[in-house]
Amino acid sequence: MGKEAELFKKLPNGRIKCTACARYCEIPEGKDGLCGIRGVTNGRLQLHAYGRVIAGQIDPIEKKPVTHYMPGSSIYSIATTGCNWLCKYCQNYDISQRRKIEGSEMTPKQVVESAIKYGAAGIAYTYNEPSIFIEFAKDCGIEAHKKGLFNIFVSNGYDTPESVKMMGEFLDCITVDFKGSGEEKFVRHYIGIPNSDPVFESIRQIRERTNIHIEITDLVVPQVGDNMEAARNLCKFIYDELGPETPIHFLRFHPDYKMMEFEYTPIDTLEKHHAIAKEEGLRFAYLGNVPGHPLENTYCPECSNVVVKRYGFDILSWNLDGNNCCNRCKCAIPIKGRPVGHADNRQNKRKRYFHLMDF
Ligand code: SF4
Ligand SMILES: [Zn+2]
Repeated sequence: MGKEAELFKKLPNGRIKCTACARYCEIPEGKDGLCGIRGVTNGRLQLHAYGRVIAGQIDPIEKKPVTHYMPGSSIYSIATTGCNWLCKYCQNYDISQRRKIEGSEMTPKQVVESAIKYGAAGIAYTYNEPSIFIEFAKDCGIEAHKKGLFNIFVSNGYDTPESVKMMGEFLDCITVDFKGSGEEKFVRHYIGIPNSDPVFESIRQIRERTNIHIEITDLVVPQVGDNMEAARNLCKFIYDELGPETPIHFLRFHPDYKMMEFEYTPIDTLEKHHAIAKEEGLRFAYLGNVPGHPLENTYCPECSNVVVKRYGFDILSWNLDGNNCCNRCKCAIPIKGRPVGHADNRQNKRKRYFHLMDF
């Protein structure tokens, strides 16, 4: 399909500077940017992957991970090929590191129709970095809003003031994925970016310029991306810039792509990261990719009651009143929305697996 991109600047040397992400590729005629899906043809920047959906499936919102926005929802997840990062452990490398334009042709209307057909409450732009196809995401997102669906980015946050402004036009929620707490040596070697400064700056801008709900993820990679000082700096930044109620998820790494020789992140390393988040004052810290671990749950920060009990992506019990306040002490828990109907059914389905893993 393809379409002319909106985020770019013309340079005096004839090149076009793409402003969709912080790579700021300066692209000559006939060439593509690093992501492989934006390129210059006939003097214009094209989003070649506009309307080309390489993956489309239903996920629980908790898989993103998002736990404080519309919990229990099913969402329709879509992606194009390409990415602006080169993560050596990418679990979606088959999609993200492909430099061909492939996938089903879908108009924004068709994307939204599919989401509705599968019973989704929202659309997630995920699996690869969505800011590289933001013009397509925007058109899908505007259409989704017309039909009462919400929009989520699962993003590495390597954005620009221009892409953040565009996000503000259609996005309801974003989960920004740090890797190795954004520590410089790690991101240079394992991601292929000079540093994480643009990610921190984008988060500030999202906070200042939009009403988008923000959650933070940090993939903790054993040996090379598990620096406690970097984790502390990240937690301090979140506390100062976004506030103590911002959810943070420490995710367990599993070996993939070019990092098969690494082990799974030890559970106690994740627990140490969680402890740092709590020490720094963050009230809602979680572990992810560890189904059955008690730190998947939401605890009331006032009385320690388990207000949402989880197993993996499932909600097992919901102990909040109609205003999302703790059933025991009435502390307000900053979760937007609540599960509709199916949480109890999920409980029955998952119960038999619940004791398989012992932490
Ligand atoms: S979106 Fe693609 S072309 Fe644009 S700056 Fe980023 S990597 Fe380069
Ligand atoms: Zn309480």
